[in-house]
Amino acid sequence: MKLELLDFTLEALQDWCIENGEKPYRAKQIFKWIYQKRVESFFDMSDISKQSQEKLDQTFKISSLQKHLVQVSADKTQKFLFKTKDGHYIETVLMFQDYGLSICVTSQIGCNMGCQFCASGLLKKKRNLDVSEIVDQILQVQKEIDGRISNIVVMGIGEPFDNYENVMNFVSIVNNDNGLGIGARRITISTCGIAPMIRRFADEQSQVNLAISLHASNDKLRSEIMPINQAYPIDELMDALRYYLDKNNRRLTFEYILLKDVNDSKEHALELVKLIKGMNAYINLIPYNPVSEHGFQSSDIKTSLAFYDTLMKNKIQCTLRKEQGQDIDAACGQLRAKQLERTHI
Ligand code: SAH
Repeated sequence: MKLELLDFTLEALQDWCIENGEKPYRAKQIFKWIYQKRVESFFDMSDISKQSQEKLDQTFKISSLQKHLVQVSADKTQKFLFKTKDGHYIETVLMFQDYGLSICVTSQIGCNMGCQFCASGLLKKKRNLDVSEIVDQILQVQKEIDGRISNIVVMGIGEPFDNYENVMNFVSIVNNDNGLGIGARRITISTCGIAPMIRRFADEQSQVNLAISLHASNDKLRSEIMPINQAYPIDELMDALRYYLDKNNRRLTFEYILLKDVNDSKEHALELVKLIKGMNAYINLIPYNPVSEHGFQSSDIKTSLAFYDTLMKNKIQCTLRKEQGQDIDAACGQLRAKQLERTHI
């Protein structure tokens, strides 16, 4: 069976070249052809000898995903559904922001974290995505729109820190100057709060942004809506985050979905202030994208603004994010879940 070229970091490809009688600089050449000049066949790589082209072609496959469906929202947000070679569906969302094209990639097929409000967990984890499957989401979207992605959020289906090594290798490829050259500060990884992996990430001293899905200000509520909190309660999470902040001079993002009558009271806001005060962090307040199976509702505008005001008055930096793509099932996992309903998989 052929190897997936997109699984290889530059260093791994250099090692492969050395082990297979190719000069190590071949790896950089191949990276540039694939990621910068966007060719899809070794036979188009004109500075590589015919003999090496043949060898590479016999060894590697270049593309791993198949485009299945694209939905375009009224605000131009696009949602892609791709099919993996073993027949699973994964989602990728493209957003047009003032600062450029931003993409939200999926890291696992399904998710085992079980967050009560999230559509991804409706379907349990089948497997981790390979590096090539995460990378190819970007290549395929760039090809479709004939544009260049400038920002990446790892916030699609799955828990990236439950697929740590593949996600970090993905980051290495997209960040590499010979690869897509997307700056680490333009990449964000979002986690539900796996404390030991936050510490491991802290030790990497990477410039990649870290976002934490908090969504509740006390253990009782957080354990109810996010089961991961039973394994790593808020104190333990905060300790890991302080460790991260000590090791990295970076600002953290907390994500907080406003759920009507669940986590949106003034008391909740004040609890949140207590937790976060003094940390180099800001809170992204996110309107909830209703998932029909779950019964949670989005807080109304008045309550959301009051929550925002309480945080601001207490000098917590925060933003109240506007929704994007609600008309195209852009909430994590919604499109995939519907596709599975349609195809009865
Ligand atoms: N597992 C990671 C990344 C995937 S979820 C994490 O938990 O961070 C990306 C973000 O979308 C998380 O903050 C998640 O809580 C949020 N989210 C999930 N379902 C949502 C919904 N229906 N509406 C709004 N945000 C949602």
